[in-house]
Parts: sequence; structure tokens; C-alpha cells
Amino acid sequence: MENIKIPLDESEIPTHWYNVIADMPNPPAPYLAPDGQPVAPEMMEAIFAPELVKQEVSTERWIAIPDEVREMYRLWRPAPLYRAKALEEMLGTPAKIYFKHEGVSPTGSHKTNSAVAQAYYNKIAGIKRLTTETGAGQWGSSIAFAGNKLGLEVRVYMVKVSYEQKPMRRSMMQTWGAEVLASPTTLTQAGQHTLEKDPNCPGSLGTAISEAVEEAASREDTNYTLGSVLNHVLLHQTIIGQETKQQLEKVGDYPDVIFAPCGGGSNVGGMMFPFLADKAAGKEIRLVAVEPTSCPTLTRGHYAYDYGDSEGLTPLMQMYTLGHDFMPPSIHAGGLRYHGDSALVSQLCREGILDAIAVPQIATFEAGIMFAKAMGIIPAPESCHAVRATIDEALRCKETGEAKTILFTLSGHGHFDMSAYEKYLAGELEDQSYPEEVLQDALNHLPKVPGIN
Ligand SMILES: *Cc1c(COP(=O)(O)O)cnc(C)c1O
Repeated sequence: MENIKIPLDESEIPTHWYNVIADMPNPPAPYLAPDGQPVAPEMMEAIFAPELVKQEVSTERWIAIPDEVREMYRLWRPAPLYRAKALEEMLGTPAKIYFKHEGVSPTGSHKTNSAVAQAYYNKIAGIKRLTTETGAGQWGSSIAFAGNKLGLEVRVYMVKVSYEQKPMRRSMMQTWGAEVLASPTTLTQAGQHTLEKDPNCPGSLGTAISEAVEEAASREDTNYTLGSVLNHVLLHQTIIGQETKQQLEKVGDYPDVIFAPCGGGSNVGGMMFPFLADKAAGKEIRLVAVEPTSCPTLTRGHYAYDYGDSEGLTPLMQMYTLGHDFMPPSIHAGGLRYHGDSALVSQLCREGILDAIAVPQIATFEAGIMFAKAMGIIPAPESCHAVRATIDEALRCKETGEAKTILFTLSGHGHFDMSAYEKYLAGELEDQSYPEEVLQDALNHLPKVPGIN
């Protein structure tokens, strides 16, 4: 009988993270200060642990995973890779479908992979408190989990719309001992500023980041952590793609195409970068980031230097952006509501090495429900974006008769998102587009950088 769940032994958990920068055709564009000068790594140490800053700018291909972090990984890793036979049969496709299930972590998503690493490096740097932002709550719960495990205090600025839509995520963070605030708050200047403009502001990741950064910059004992976008976060996530390669090797298979949902790019990078090394060596493989049509950063955004947060506290990053003051509509895939994207993912898209597509909200839930019926696992709304793209590809294969091998990242389970499924089932979900005028207007809000933008 063919395997449905492709095994990997605990002893085979990778010992190193893979740094894609070593294999990129062009060096990554540097982060810039508002005056257009590159940001010195020491400046980043005001809010980040020194080891994480080193990783942010490292050009080493392999970076050793500390034993303590690998030990924590053993709690849920290796994550299972499945062959989705029942879905293939349901679709009647000649394609083979595999998915990597990152929803098996204690917090239910891939974010825990970076959270334990970030908490660890902060701990050994003598830091006592961590601040962060969270959208849908997956990152907040991951850092709450990791902080608790390593004895660090955690304060989470949670985007208000999610704070209200996902009370269970909030309780989860509180269970691990974290303090959770609905952002925008009145505690920071960034929050006050946003509330002055709109007292009923539903919040955004951009604003929540501003709040968490502002607090971390104001306290010696406190550092900031980010759940996506930055190079070191994508680096930690490469455990996903490496394990997947090992698992596929065991069954003698290799993907023709990989889909992953894209918010800030961490699970895209995590899954795809290890395969990109093969692509760089001449292997044919299509790597596709999938985003929402209502927040179409990679597919329609401007490639420009922009801030990572709404207030302009972060360095400028060259990336696809919808404008740092863009307030994405309140879609249920909260983890994909971000105006920008990883600089690495953006650059690789720009260079045609990664592809991107956008899918509308209702179609993603339709796909998520098909997947749940076939496989029993209920995907997070973010993950439903990759499921949609996978099903569409499998159906194209059915038409053409191609027996492609499709792989996707199931970045998380949807157990905390059942109210979103409830709305879908009640026919209450809407598709929101992103008007061209808004996109053009965003250009006027890009920061003016001497000699650059
Ligand atoms: C946060 C999140 C995403 C999007 O974030 P990336 O950094 O782009 O990976 C996707 N899926 C789930 C389940 C998430 O929690």
C-alpha cells in the first residue's frame, strides 16, 4: 500500500537552516534609513537580539540550529508530509498532490518555527521582555508559547478587528501568560496618532508593528520580535522545505510546482527557498506565492522602498508594497493582511524566479471545504489560498491529462477560524477587490528617499 503520511524520524530533523542569500543571482537590496543611507546592523540591535541581526545580513549558506532550538522543535517536528490521495480522487485528477502540514505545532501554524528561535536568541542576550504585533493571532500565540517556554515576558499588540473576531486566540496567548492589547491602543504615540485619524480604526498589522517597535525602542530590557517579512524569519522557516525535500526523497518524488499562501512571505520562503537552490542548479520547478485579491501585494503592488509599518519607524525595505498607510479590508485570512512583503521574496519575484497569483476570498473557503471533506483537516483561511491554487492546478491537469506533482504548504489549521467558515456557510462572505485608483494613490504616499524613490 502506498504511504499517505510520509514519515521522517526525529533524528532527521535538519541541523541547519538554509540561507537563500548565498544562492541568489543578485545580492539583496540593503535596508535604508530615511536619508537613503544603508542601515548599520548595530542600529538594528536597539530592538533585535545580536544573533538575529547577524542572521539578517548573513551570506553564509548554512546556519547551525542551536541544540536548544532543535530540542524544542522535537515537540512537533518533523511535521508530516501527506499525499492527498482522497483529494486527488475527489477531483478526478491525474496530478499527484502533496502537502506539508505545519498545523501540527502547539499553536497550530508554521510561525512557531521562528518564535522558538527568536525567543532563544533574545534569552541568551539577557533580554527579559518581548513585544510583538499579531494579526489573526498565530504569531502572537507562537511568541506567547515560546516566551513562556523560555521564561520571557510577552506583550502582544493584536490588530483590533482580529482581537474582536478571534477571542479564542487571545485566550490562548493569555493561557501561556502573555499580555494582549487591542491595537491601536492609547499607550503609544503610534496608536494615539492612528486613533486621532480614525477613532473606529479596525487596526492593521502596520499600526500594530509601530506600537510594538515603539515600546521595544523605549526600554532596555525589551526587544521586538516579528513573525514574518525579515530575512532571519524566513531563514528559520526553511526547516519546512528541507524536511519536505527529505520526505519526498523517501518516496522518490519531486514537485513540478509548489504553492504557498503569502502574507509577509515567511512560509513561502520557508518552503520554497530550499527548492530554489535546486532551481538555481538548473532543475525545472515552478514556485508560486498565493495572495488575496483584496491585498494583492506581489501581483499588483509597486516595487519600491517603503516602510514595514504604518508610522515609518522601521527601516526602508525594497519590496512590493501597497503603501505603508494602506488599510487592507477586514478579510478573514488575517495573516495575509499586510501592505508589504519580504524583501527577499519580492526581489525573487521581481527577477522572475518566484511567481505570484491572487485568489478571491469566497473561492478560497470553497476550496478549504473541499479539502476538509476529502482529507478531514480544516485549513486556516490563509492556507485555503494555497489549497485553492492547488485545486485549480489539479483541475487544469485533469483537462490536459498532465500527471504533475503538486506540493503545497498547509501553513496552519483553522480551528480558531470557525466563525469565518460559519460566515462562508451562511453565504455572508464577500469578495473585495482592490481599486486601481487606490493603487495609484499609494504611489503618492511612498517615502521620498534621496536618489531612490
Ligand atoms: C501568518 C500566517 C500566514 C502568512 O504569513 P507568511 O509570513 O506569509 O507565511 C499564512 N498562514 C498561516 C496559517 C499564518 O499563520
